[in-house]
Amino acid sequence: MKKILVTGGAGFIGSNLCKKLLKDGHKVICLDNFLTGSKENINNLINNPNFKFVEHDIENPIDINTDEIYNLACPASPPHYQFNPVKTVRTSVVGVANMLELAQKYNSRILQASTSEVYGDPLMHPQKEEYWGNVNPIGIRSCYDEGKRCAETLMMDYHRQFNTDIKIIRIFNTYGVNMHPNDGRVVSNFIAQALKNDDITIYGDGSQTRSFCYVSDLIDGMVKMMNSENFIGPVNLGNPSERTILNLAELIIKKTDSKSKIIHKPLPGDDPIKRKPDITLAKEKLNWYPVVSIDEGLEKTIEYFSKKIQY
Ligand code: NAD
Ligand code: UDP
Repeated sequence: MKKILVTGGAGFIGSNLCKKLLKDGHKVICLDNFLTGSKENINNLINNPNFKFVEHDIENPIDINTDEIYNLACPASPPHYQFNPVKTVRTSVVGVANMLELAQKYNSRILQASTSEVYGDPLMHPQKEEYWGNVNPIGIRSCYDEGKRCAETLMMDYHRQFNTDIKIIRIFNTYGVNMHPNDGRVVSNFIAQALKNDDITIYGDGSQTRSFCYVSDLIDGMVKMMNSENFIGPVNLGNPSERTILNLAELIIKKTDSKSKIIHKPLPGDDPIKRKPDITLAKEKLNWYPVVSIDEGLEKTIEYFSKKIQY
Protein backbone atom coordinates (compact mmCIF):
# COMPACT_ATOMS: atom_id res chain seq x y z
CA MET A 1 0.00 0.00 0.00
CA LYS A 2 1.39 3.38 -1.03
CA LYS A 3 0.48 6.86 0.24
CA ILE A 4 -0.36 8.97 -2.81
CA LEU A 5 -1.11 12.67 -3.24
CA VAL A 6 -3.39 13.63 -6.14
CA THR A 7 -3.54 17.38 -6.76
CA GLY A 8 -6.57 18.47 -8.75
CA GLY A 9 -8.19 15.32 -7.35
CA ALA A 10 -11.72 16.77 -7.34
CA GLY A 11 -11.56 17.46 -11.08
CA PHE A 12 -12.58 15.27 -13.99
CA ILE A 13 -9.43 13.16 -14.45
CA GLY A 14 -8.30 13.52 -10.81
CA SER A 15 -11.50 12.05 -9.35
CA ASN A 16 -11.31 9.07 -11.73
CA LEU A 17 -7.66 8.59 -10.72
CA CYS A 18 -8.43 8.76 -6.96
CA LYS A 19 -11.12 6.10 -7.45
CA LYS A 20 -8.72 3.81 -9.30
CA LEU A 21 -5.89 4.25 -6.74
CA LEU A 22 -8.26 3.47 -3.84
CA LYS A 23 -9.50 0.40 -5.72
CA ASP A 24 -5.87 -0.72 -6.07
CA GLY A 25 -5.56 -0.55 -2.27
CA HIS A 26 -3.62 2.69 -1.75
CA LYS A 27 -4.06 5.58 0.68
CA VAL A 28 -5.06 8.68 -1.28
CA ILE A 29 -4.77 12.32 -0.28
CA CYS A 30 -6.85 14.39 -2.68
CA LEU A 31 -5.91 18.07 -2.81
CA ASP A 32 -7.98 20.66 -4.64
CA ASN A 33 -9.02 24.34 -4.46
CA PHE A 34 -12.36 23.67 -6.24
CA LEU A 35 -11.55 26.14 -9.02
CA THR A 36 -13.08 23.83 -11.61
CA GLY A 37 -13.50 20.61 -9.62
CA SER A 38 -16.44 19.74 -7.41
CA LYS A 39 -17.37 18.00 -4.15
CA GLU A 40 -19.85 15.95 -6.16
CA ASN A 41 -16.98 14.25 -8.01
CA ILE A 42 -15.52 12.90 -4.75
CA ASN A 43 -18.74 12.36 -2.75
CA ASN A 44 -18.59 8.61 -3.26
CA LEU A 45 -14.97 8.48 -2.00
CA ILE A 46 -15.26 10.63 1.12
CA ASN A 47 -16.36 7.75 3.42
CA ASN A 48 -13.50 5.49 2.35
CA PRO A 49 -11.07 5.30 5.34
CA ASN A 50 -8.12 5.37 2.90
CA PHE A 51 -9.28 8.67 1.38
CA LYS A 52 -8.52 12.12 2.76
CA PHE A 53 -9.44 15.48 1.24
CA VAL A 54 -7.37 18.64 1.72
CA GLU A 55 -8.69 21.97 0.44
CA HIS A 56 -5.59 23.82 -0.73
CA ASP A 57 -4.21 25.89 -3.61
CA ILE A 58 -0.87 24.56 -4.95
CA GLU A 59 0.29 28.15 -5.45
CA ASN A 60 0.95 28.00 -1.70
CA PRO A 61 3.52 25.57 -0.27
CA ILE A 62 2.26 22.58 1.71
CA ASP A 63 3.99 19.89 3.75
CA ILE A 64 2.71 16.36 3.06
CA ASN A 65 4.91 13.26 3.09
CA THR A 66 3.79 10.77 0.44
CA ASP A 67 5.37 8.09 -1.76
CA GLU A 68 3.94 9.52 -4.98
CA ILE A 69 2.47 12.78 -6.27
CA TYR A 70 0.23 13.00 -9.32
CA ASN A 71 0.16 16.73 -10.14
CA LEU A 72 -3.08 17.42 -12.02
CA ALA A 73 -4.03 20.76 -10.47
CA CYS A 74 -4.72 23.21 -13.31
CA PRO A 75 -7.89 24.22 -15.18
CA ALA A 76 -7.95 22.35 -18.51
CA SER A 77 -10.88 23.76 -20.48
CA PRO A 78 -9.99 26.80 -22.66
CA PRO A 79 -12.80 29.05 -21.24
CA HIS A 80 -11.71 28.15 -17.70
CA TYR A 81 -7.96 28.56 -18.15
CA GLN A 82 -8.51 31.83 -20.04
CA PHE A 83 -10.87 33.22 -17.36
CA ASN A 84 -7.97 34.10 -15.03
CA PRO A 85 -4.89 33.63 -17.23
CA VAL A 86 -2.40 34.98 -14.68
CA LYS A 87 -3.66 32.43 -12.17
CA THR A 88 -3.26 29.69 -14.81
CA VAL A 89 0.39 30.59 -15.36
CA ARG A 90 1.04 30.77 -11.62
CA THR A 91 -0.54 27.34 -11.10
CA SER A 92 1.71 25.77 -13.73
CA VAL A 93 4.88 27.54 -12.62
CA VAL A 94 4.72 28.46 -8.89
CA GLY A 95 2.37 25.55 -8.18
CA VAL A 96 4.53 22.98 -9.97
CA ALA A 97 7.67 24.32 -8.26
CA ASN A 98 5.94 23.88 -4.88
CA MET A 99 5.03 20.28 -5.72
CA LEU A 100 8.59 19.60 -6.90
CA GLU A 101 9.97 21.00 -3.61
CA LEU A 102 7.68 18.58 -1.80
CA ALA A 103 8.82 15.66 -3.95
CA GLN A 104 12.47 16.56 -3.38
CA LYS A 105 12.04 16.98 0.39
CA TYR A 106 10.40 13.57 0.90
CA ASN A 107 11.96 11.67 -2.01
CA SER A 108 8.51 11.18 -3.52
CA ARG A 109 8.07 10.28 -7.17
CA ILE A 110 6.16 13.04 -8.99
CA LEU A 111 4.16 12.75 -12.22
CA GLN A 112 3.22 15.93 -14.08
CA ALA A 113 0.03 16.04 -16.17
CA SER A 114 1.32 17.89 -19.22
CA THR A 115 -0.63 18.27 -22.41
CA SER A 116 -0.70 17.98 -26.19
CA GLU A 117 -0.96 21.80 -26.07
CA VAL A 118 2.84 21.88 -25.68
CA TYR A 119 2.85 21.11 -29.44
CA GLY A 120 0.66 24.21 -30.08
CA ASP A 121 -0.77 24.31 -33.60
CA PRO A 122 1.44 21.43 -34.74
CA LEU A 123 3.38 21.37 -37.99
CA MET A 124 4.26 17.70 -37.43
CA HIS A 125 1.42 15.22 -37.76
CA PRO A 126 0.84 12.97 -35.88
CA GLN A 127 2.75 14.46 -32.97
CA LYS A 128 5.79 12.60 -31.62
CA GLU A 129 7.44 13.42 -28.31
CA GLU A 130 10.60 14.76 -29.98
CA TYR A 131 8.62 17.53 -31.72
CA TRP A 132 9.26 20.90 -30.02
CA GLY A 133 5.97 22.43 -31.08
CA ASN A 134 4.57 25.53 -32.69
CA VAL A 135 3.28 27.66 -29.83
CA ASN A 136 2.30 31.33 -29.83
CA PRO A 137 3.99 32.72 -26.69
CA ILE A 138 1.74 35.81 -26.46
CA GLY A 139 -1.71 34.59 -27.48
CA ILE A 140 -4.86 33.78 -25.51
CA ARG A 141 -3.88 30.11 -25.12
CA SER A 142 -0.31 30.90 -23.99
CA CYS A 143 -1.18 31.05 -20.29
CA TYR A 144 -1.91 27.33 -20.52
CA ASP A 145 0.46 26.23 -23.31
CA GLU A 146 3.51 28.13 -22.10
CA GLY A 147 2.61 27.46 -18.47
CA LYS A 148 2.61 23.72 -19.16
CA ARG A 149 5.83 24.00 -21.20
CA CYS A 150 7.51 25.79 -18.28
CA ALA A 151 6.17 23.09 -15.94
CA GLU A 152 7.95 20.49 -18.10
CA THR A 153 11.13 22.61 -17.92
CA LEU A 154 10.90 22.76 -14.12
CA MET A 155 10.37 18.99 -13.94
CA MET A 156 13.43 18.31 -16.11
CA ASP A 157 15.60 20.85 -14.25
CA TYR A 158 14.69 19.48 -10.81
CA HIS A 159 15.56 16.05 -12.20
CA ARG A 160 18.94 17.17 -13.62
CA GLN A 161 19.85 19.50 -10.74
CA PHE A 162 18.49 17.61 -7.71
CA ASN A 163 17.89 14.11 -9.08
CA THR A 164 14.16 14.40 -8.32
CA ASP A 165 12.24 11.28 -9.36
CA ILE A 166 9.99 12.63 -12.13
CA LYS A 167 7.57 11.44 -14.82
CA ILE A 168 6.00 13.59 -17.55
CA ILE A 169 2.90 12.59 -19.49
CA ARG A 170 1.39 14.60 -22.34
CA ILE A 171 -2.36 14.05 -22.27
CA PHE A 172 -4.36 14.40 -25.48
CA ASN A 173 -8.10 15.28 -25.44
CA THR A 174 -9.73 13.05 -22.85
CA TYR A 175 -13.45 12.76 -22.04
CA GLY A 176 -15.82 10.70 -19.90
CA VAL A 177 -17.63 10.34 -16.60
CA ASN A 178 -17.16 13.22 -14.10
CA MET A 179 -16.64 15.86 -16.79
CA HIS A 180 -18.61 18.92 -15.78
CA PRO A 181 -21.55 19.51 -18.17
CA ASN A 182 -20.72 23.27 -18.23
CA ASP A 183 -17.03 22.68 -18.58
CA GLY A 184 -16.88 24.36 -22.00
CA ARG A 185 -14.93 21.61 -23.77
CA VAL A 186 -16.23 20.14 -26.97
CA VAL A 187 -17.46 16.71 -25.82
CA SER A 188 -19.27 18.09 -22.77
CA ASN A 189 -20.75 21.01 -24.73
CA PHE A 190 -22.02 18.82 -27.58
CA ILE A 191 -23.54 16.12 -25.33
CA ALA A 192 -25.24 18.68 -23.07
CA GLN A 193 -26.58 20.58 -26.11
CA ALA A 194 -27.77 17.39 -27.82
CA LEU A 195 -29.56 16.08 -24.72
CA LYS A 196 -31.39 19.40 -24.35
CA ASN A 197 -32.10 19.60 -28.12
CA ASP A 198 -30.26 22.95 -28.12
CA ASP A 199 -28.18 24.11 -31.08
CA ILE A 200 -24.80 22.36 -31.37
CA THR A 201 -22.13 25.08 -31.46
CA ILE A 202 -19.32 24.26 -33.88
CA TYR A 203 -16.51 26.82 -33.75
CA GLY A 204 -15.30 27.51 -37.28
CA ASP A 205 -16.30 25.15 -40.09
CA GLY A 206 -15.71 22.01 -38.01
CA SER A 207 -12.89 20.71 -40.20
CA GLN A 208 -10.34 20.97 -37.34
CA THR A 209 -9.47 17.56 -35.90
CA ARG A 210 -8.96 16.09 -32.43
CA SER A 211 -8.36 12.52 -31.21
CA PHE A 212 -10.50 11.60 -28.21
CA CYS A 213 -9.42 9.21 -25.45
CA TYR A 214 -11.82 7.70 -22.91
CA VAL A 215 -10.83 8.46 -19.32
CA SER A 216 -10.39 4.84 -18.13
CA ASP A 217 -7.77 4.29 -20.85
CA LEU A 218 -5.91 7.43 -19.80
CA ILE A 219 -5.95 6.45 -16.11
CA ASP A 220 -4.43 3.05 -16.99
CA GLY A 221 -1.65 4.81 -18.87
CA MET A 222 -1.01 7.28 -16.03
CA VAL A 223 -0.66 4.51 -13.45
CA LYS A 224 1.57 2.47 -15.78
CA MET A 225 3.79 5.51 -16.28
CA MET A 226 4.01 6.20 -12.54
CA ASN A 227 5.01 2.58 -11.90
CA SER A 228 7.54 2.38 -14.76
CA GLU A 229 11.29 2.25 -14.11
CA ASN A 230 14.14 3.90 -16.04
CA PHE A 231 11.77 6.02 -18.10
CA ILE A 232 10.87 9.61 -17.23
CA GLY A 233 9.12 10.63 -20.45
CA PRO A 234 7.70 12.84 -21.74
CA VAL A 235 5.28 10.32 -23.18
CA ASN A 236 2.10 10.94 -25.19
CA LEU A 237 -1.07 9.40 -23.76
CA GLY A 238 -4.08 9.63 -26.04
CA ASN A 239 -6.20 7.81 -28.57
CA PRO A 240 -4.84 8.10 -32.13
CA SER A 241 -8.31 7.76 -33.66
CA GLU A 242 -8.58 11.21 -35.27
CA ARG A 243 -11.86 12.85 -36.37
CA THR A 244 -13.16 16.26 -37.35
CA ILE A 245 -15.24 18.28 -34.92
CA LEU A 246 -18.11 18.15 -37.44
CA ASN A 247 -17.93 14.33 -37.40
CA LEU A 248 -18.01 14.37 -33.58
CA ALA A 249 -21.14 16.59 -33.63
CA GLU A 250 -22.91 14.26 -36.07
CA LEU A 251 -21.97 11.20 -34.02
CA ILE A 252 -23.31 12.73 -30.79
CA ILE A 253 -26.56 13.86 -32.47
CA LYS A 254 -27.06 10.31 -33.75
CA LYS A 255 -26.23 8.63 -30.44
CA THR A 256 -28.56 10.89 -28.43
CA ASP A 257 -31.32 10.75 -31.07
CA SER A 258 -31.33 14.54 -30.76
CA LYS A 259 -33.32 17.17 -32.68
CA SER A 260 -30.46 19.66 -32.28
CA LYS A 261 -29.28 21.63 -35.29
CA ILE A 262 -25.66 22.45 -35.99
CA ILE A 263 -24.77 26.14 -35.91
CA HIS A 264 -21.38 27.75 -36.48
CA LYS A 265 -19.62 30.26 -34.21
CA PRO A 266 -16.27 32.02 -34.74
CA LEU A 267 -13.18 29.88 -34.27
CA PRO A 268 -11.29 31.08 -31.14
CA GLY A 269 -7.74 32.47 -31.60
CA ASP A 270 -4.87 29.99 -32.01
CA ASP A 271 -7.22 26.98 -32.07
CA PRO A 272 -5.05 24.08 -33.34
CA ILE A 273 -6.08 22.84 -36.82
CA LYS A 274 -5.24 19.19 -36.22
CA ARG A 275 -4.13 16.94 -33.41
CA LYS A 276 -3.32 13.25 -33.20
CA PRO A 277 -0.88 11.51 -30.87
CA ASP A 278 1.84 9.18 -32.05
CA ILE A 279 1.74 6.60 -29.24
CA THR A 280 4.62 4.38 -30.40
CA LEU A 281 6.67 5.34 -27.31
CA ALA A 282 3.84 4.53 -24.86
CA LYS A 283 3.38 1.15 -26.58
CA GLU A 284 7.10 0.39 -26.42
CA LYS A 285 7.89 1.61 -22.91
CA LEU A 286 4.61 1.00 -21.08
CA ASN A 287 2.86 -1.59 -23.22
CA TRP A 288 -0.04 0.88 -23.17
CA TYR A 289 -2.60 1.64 -25.83
CA PRO A 290 -6.27 2.66 -25.58
CA VAL A 291 -8.96 -0.02 -25.81
CA VAL A 292 -12.25 1.92 -25.45
CA SER A 293 -13.83 2.84 -28.80
CA ILE A 294 -15.42 6.23 -29.40
CA ASP A 295 -18.85 4.52 -29.57
CA GLU A 296 -18.46 2.86 -26.18
CA GLY A 297 -16.89 5.93 -24.57
CA LEU A 298 -19.55 8.31 -25.85
CA GLU A 299 -22.35 5.97 -24.73
CA LYS A 300 -20.97 5.88 -21.17
CA THR A 301 -20.53 9.67 -21.14
CA ILE A 302 -24.02 10.30 -22.55
CA GLU A 303 -25.54 8.02 -19.89
CA TYR A 304 -23.67 9.95 -17.18
CA PHE A 305 -24.68 13.35 -18.56
CA SER A 306 -28.33 12.36 -18.91
CA LYS A 307 -28.44 11.79 -15.12
CA LYS A 308 -26.61 15.07 -14.37
CA ILE A 309 -28.29 17.55 -16.66
CA GLN A 310 -31.41 19.50 -15.62
CA TYR A 311 -33.86 19.69 -18.51
P1 NAD B 1 -10.43 19.79 -14.46
O1 NAD B 1 -10.57 21.26 -14.63
O2 NAD B 1 -11.67 18.96 -14.34
O3 NAD B 1 -9.51 19.45 -13.19
C1 NAD B 1 -8.52 20.29 -12.71
C2 NAD B 1 -8.61 20.28 -11.18
O4 NAD B 1 -7.55 21.08 -10.64
C3 NAD B 1 -9.92 20.89 -10.66
O5 NAD B 1 -10.47 20.05 -9.66
C4 NAD B 1 -9.49 22.24 -10.09
O6 NAD B 1 -10.35 22.69 -9.07
C5 NAD B 1 -8.08 21.93 -9.62
N1 NAD B 1 -7.19 23.11 -9.55
C6 NAD B 1 -7.00 24.06 -10.51
N2 NAD B 1 -6.08 24.95 -10.08
C7 NAD B 1 -5.68 24.55 -8.85
C8 NAD B 1 -4.77 25.06 -7.89
N3 NAD B 1 -4.07 26.19 -8.13
N4 NAD B 1 -4.61 24.40 -6.73
C9 NAD B 1 -5.33 23.27 -6.45
N5 NAD B 1 -6.22 22.74 -7.32
C10 NAD B 1 -6.40 23.38 -8.50
O7 NAD B 1 -9.53 19.27 -15.67
P2 NAD B 1 -9.08 17.80 -16.09
O8 NAD B 1 -9.53 17.57 -17.46
O9 NAD B 1 -9.41 16.84 -15.03
O10 NAD B 1 -7.49 18.00 -16.16
C11 NAD B 1 -6.61 17.51 -15.15
C12 NAD B 1 -5.17 17.77 -15.58
O11 NAD B 1 -4.92 17.08 -16.80
C13 NAD B 1 -4.85 19.24 -15.83
O12 NAD B 1 -3.56 19.50 -15.34
C14 NAD B 1 -4.89 19.37 -17.32
O13 NAD B 1 -4.05 20.39 -17.79
C15 NAD B 1 -4.41 17.99 -17.77
N6 NAD B 1 -4.90 17.67 -19.12
C16 NAD B 1 -6.20 17.32 -19.35
C17 NAD B 1 -6.63 17.04 -20.64
C18 NAD B 1 -8.04 16.60 -20.95
O14 NAD B 1 -8.36 16.38 -22.12
N7 NAD B 1 -8.94 16.43 -20.00
C19 NAD B 1 -5.73 17.16 -21.70
C20 NAD B 1 -4.43 17.55 -21.44
C21 NAD B 1 -4.01 17.79 -20.15
N1 UDP C 1 -15.24 23.39 -30.05
C1 UDP C 1 -16.40 23.56 -30.78
N2 UDP C 1 -17.55 23.82 -30.10
C2 UDP C 1 -17.61 23.88 -28.74
C3 UDP C 1 -16.41 23.69 -28.00
C4 UDP C 1 -15.24 23.46 -28.70
O1 UDP C 1 -16.41 23.51 -32.01
O2 UDP C 1 -18.71 24.10 -28.20
C5 UDP C 1 -13.98 23.11 -30.81
C6 UDP C 1 -12.80 23.95 -30.41
O3 UDP C 1 -12.78 25.16 -31.13
C7 UDP C 1 -11.63 23.03 -30.77
C8 UDP C 1 -12.19 21.62 -30.53
O4 UDP C 1 -13.61 21.77 -30.52
O5 UDP C 1 -11.34 23.14 -32.14
C9 UDP C 1 -11.74 21.04 -29.20
O6 UDP C 1 -12.02 22.00 -28.20
P1 UDP C 1 -11.80 21.75 -26.64
O7 UDP C 1 -12.08 23.04 -25.95
O8 UDP C 1 -12.55 20.56 -26.18
O9 UDP C 1 -10.26 21.34 -26.48
P2 UDP C 1 -8.89 21.87 -27.13
O10 UDP C 1 -9.13 22.97 -28.09
O11 UDP C 1 -8.11 22.32 -25.95
O12 UDP C 1 -8.36 20.67 -27.80
